[in-house]
Amino acid sequence: MAKIGFLGLGEMGTPMAGRLIRAGHDVVVWNRSAERTVPLTQEGAAVASSPAKAAAGADFVITMLATPEALDQVLFGAAGLAPALSPGQVLIDMSTVGPDEVRSAGGRLPKGVSLVDAPVRGSVPQATSGRLDIFVGATDEDYERVRPILESLGSPRHAGGPGSGAGMKLVANLVLGAAIVTLGEALSLGESLELKRDLVLDTLADSPIGPIVKAKRANVESGDFSPSFKLRHAAKDLRLVMEAAAARGRELKQARADRAWLDEAAETGAADLDFSTVVATIAGKQASAPTSSSKRSPSADPLTPPIRIS
Ligand code: NAP
Repeated sequence: MAKIGFLGLGEMGTPMAGRLIRAGHDVVVWNRSAERTVPLTQEGAAVASSPAKAAAGADFVITMLATPEALDQVLFGAAGLAPALSPGQVLIDMSTVGPDEVRSAGGRLPKGVSLVDAPVRGSVPQATSGRLDIFVGATDEDYERVRPILESLGSPRHAGGPGSGAGMKLVANLVLGAAIVTLGEALSLGESLELKRDLVLDTLADSPIGPIVKAKRANVESGDFSPSFKLRHAAKDLRLVMEAAAARGRELKQARADRAWLDEAAETGAADLDFSTVVATIAGKQASAPTSSSKRSPSADPLTPPIRIS
């Protein structure tokens, strides 16, 4: 069993740290808002008072933070983690921050410290039950060192050298962004054609975007967009996709359009709701547009009640 520092106890970090404790590891946690450490202390975690202190004596330090900016602050800000790391320790970053941030941070760590990028696919239910897909960027030697730790959290896959896991995650989330926006636009078109929403959803469940329809149908039907994967993170991921592509001379026209919808939804005050709330933004905006077949608003049709944000 290993000694692990775990930094970042948000929607994902809390269940992940809990699994590591229950797997028998000796876990020290740190979070910017200290109150989020309390449930984990009840499971046996110790609490560090700063990122630097979470590194003391650890074999592995895991970060699960919101953004590249948050990772940078935790590593290199006041009482930051990076200067406290010693040769032989392994930093595993599981946040979605993109390959450029991973490589930049890796280049600024003390000599002899390994950085492994291991972002995840799956959300809170998969984090809780240890069924995350984990894309790992690491040397062969570091991959073998971190694999047993990551297997408590899900299924690690070695994507390639450092930065490759972060790159793979951007590829995966480009598709996720496209799928949720496509769902919103398909529902909007269906509503304008006066189709029953149940039939549209049944049909889409058996289409190339079937998995996202099945995962988010309950949110869409209830109008309850309580966060599992926050819209602000989905919008951040599309920003990272566009930045990574632009830096490499790639023009991603569809991803650009998907990003515009996510940003627009976030600007309506929905950033801390689930990312599936973009479906409501798309439907809501389009529902106020005049229809060609009649003068009434489609949202007045009892067969297609409006999708609302609760
Ligand atoms: P979250 O609930 O928003 O939690 C974010 C964490 O980052 C919190 O611990 C927060 O601390 C911390 N943080 C934010 N800014 C910070 C700063 N400037 N300095 C220090 N700490 C800071 O996010 P999450 O859903 O757990 O996601 C974490 C990462 O995993 C993100 O990169 C996300 O894109 C990715 N991800 C999420 C999901 C999902 O379904 N939720 C799935 C796959 C990947 P406070 O508690 O103090 O705010």
